[in-house]
Formats: sequence, structure tokens, C-alpha cells
Amino acid sequence: MTKQLKQIGFIGLGNMGFPMASRLLAAGYSLSVYDINSDVQAAFLKDRGVTGMNSPAEVAKNSDFVITMLPDGKAVSAVVLGAQGSAGMIDVMAPETMLIDMSSSSPMGTKKLGQLLASHEIQMIDAPVSGGVPKAKSGELVIIAGGRAEVVQRCRPIFEVLGSRIFHSGPLGSGHAVKALNNMCSAAGLIAAAEVLLVGRKFGVHPRVMNDILNASTGRNNSTENKMAQYVFSRSFSSGFSLDLMVKDLTTATDLAKDLGIPALFSSACRELWVAAQSGLESGVDHTGVVRWFEELSRIRLTDEEVSP
Ligand code: NAD
Repeated sequence: MTKQLKQIGFIGLGNMGFPMASRLLAAGYSLSVYDINSDVQAAFLKDRGVTGMNSPAEVAKNSDFVITMLPDGKAVSAVVLGAQGSAGMIDVMAPETMLIDMSSSSPMGTKKLGQLLASHEIQMIDAPVSGGVPKAKSGELVIIAGGRAEVVQRCRPIFEVLGSRIFHSGPLGSGHAVKALNNMCSAAGLIAAAEVLLVGRKFGVHPRVMNDILNASTGRNNSTENKMAQYVFSRSFSSGFSLDLMVKDLTTATDLAKDLGIPALFSSACRELWVAAQSGLESGVDHTGVVRWFEELSRIRLTDEEVSP
């Protein structure tokens, strides 16, 4: 009989991992956690009765399955295979234990890692998410799971705590492929909206008025609906998803196109713009800060100030 997944190891307690692990805890799962940043780990452990671990290997020893929510596939490989002299999870995970990589990692790297884990009888699926910090908190993430159908099915009770839409995208790595390609669409939508709002403002249309018109018209997208007023016009630039992570996803998407021999001209141009913004803005900026870079180019700002044509 297949073992029930009750004891969860959770690695990576950042903007997304923190609220996701909190939801699993509230749903009654028993957690052992690890983050390389001891301050972040201490903040999670405070007043919760959760066991903090000193290494990924310690987490793996104590878990039926391990969820990773790390910046990228390189960090996932480091915790699985070991890095800088510390043992990796692969050395201690028992057969039938499972790795669920919920980070937005590279699909090609995920396929390789999955093959290696399979040779140790450890199962792996990729299950990246969409929806950002607000949906991570509310448990309404979109979960895009790649891997064998029966393994994805086995993880469903956990996914139902974290998300409201759960998709099985195909074989291992396909979740990561779809996630990177989704973010390409999302990133293109944000900078397209920024550019047209700046032109509209120069002509004399207030950005809020124009954004409302886009949202009632065919130009609307996730950024016009959920980012412009919330993070740009308010000048908070605080969505909880960094520009560096967005550029990482765009690079994953263009690398994938290259690996598959698809001439993704538009995606390459979009990535170039984001990379230019990354080098022109301060480090650690939120991804919605990309709009500030477009503002600087056009010497206009998308603020609530009166518009004079
Ligand atoms: P984050 O940078 O806020 O958190 C990552 C955490 O991982 C940090 O706390 C960091 O200390 C920890 N970490 C890094 N390397 C580690 C290692 N080797 N061992 C243990 N811990 C390590 O990132 P985030 O915004 O939470 O994103 C996590 C993943 O989810 C990324 O792949 C991102 O692309 C993806 N994602 C983010 C969002 C979002 O809105 N923030 C939405 C969807 C998907």
C-alpha cells in the first residue's frame, strides 16, 4: 500500500515558501523546515512548534516527502546533491520518499535531476505555481504539476491546501516549462501596458482612466488588472516577486526555445528589455519596478498627479 504523505520537509521559506508552509501547518501536516538564511528560518519557527533543521539532509531524514521552494533549479540541485562539503538529501532519502519541486526551475535541469533521483528509487515531480504572494496566502495558487500521473495524484491532498486550480501538464519538467513560458507572457504584458500608458499620459490621458479603459477593452491583461493600480500608480512596487527572479524565468523560457530549435524572436526581445531594466535599476528591486525603467526612458511617470496635455 502507498504510504500516506504526512510528514513534510519544506526547504525555502522566502516570499512564497513562508505562506505556503504556514498553510500546510494550519492544515494539520507535521513540518520540518530549513532555509539557508537563519533569520528567515527563525522567523518561521517563532511560536509555532515546528522543528527547524540544520541542513537539507536533516530535513530529508525526517520526512515522507520534501517540498522545495527555492530561487531556481541550481539551488534545488544544491540541496538535493549537496554543496560546499555538506551532504545532500539524495544520500539520506529512503526509497519511496518524494521530492516535489515547487520552485520555478529549468525544465531541462529538472529532467536530469529526476533521472538521477529515479536511479536511487526516489520519485520526483515538478509543481511550480502561479498567483504570487496574495494567492500563496489565500491558498488559491495555480499549481502546474509535471510527472507521472499516479505520483501527481498522490500529491493532490497537499496541492489542495495550497492551490485552487491544479493542472497535470505532462511528464516531468513540463510544469517548469509551462511556468517559464507563462511568465514570458506575463512579463510581456506588463511592459506592453507600461509603454502604452506612458504614450497615453504624454497625450494627456490620466493613467488611471486609461488603465480602466484597457480593463474594459481588449487590451486588458493580468498586469493592467492586478498590478498597475496596486503596485505602480500607488508607487509601492511591492508585489513580492523580484525582478531578478522574473529575468531568471525569461532566460529559462528563451533557453528552452533555443534548445528546441524554435526561433522565439519576440520572447528574446522581451527578455532583452527586462535584462536592460535589471542593469539600470537598483539590485533587489521588485519586478513591477521595471515600469520605473520605462518611465526614465520616456521622462514621464505613471502617477496620480494631474495630467496636463
Ligand atoms: P525568495 O527569494 O523570497 O525566497 C527563496 C528562499 O530560499 C529564501 O528565503 C532563501 O534564503 C532560500 N534559499 C536560497 N538558497 C537556498 C538553499 N541553497 N538552501 C535553503 N534555502 C535557500 O523567492 P520567492 O519569491 O519565495 O520565490 C521562490 C520560487 O517561487 C522562485 O523559483 C520563484 O521564481 C517562484 N515564484 C515566485 C512567485 C512570487 O510572487 N514571489 C510567484 C510564483 C513563483
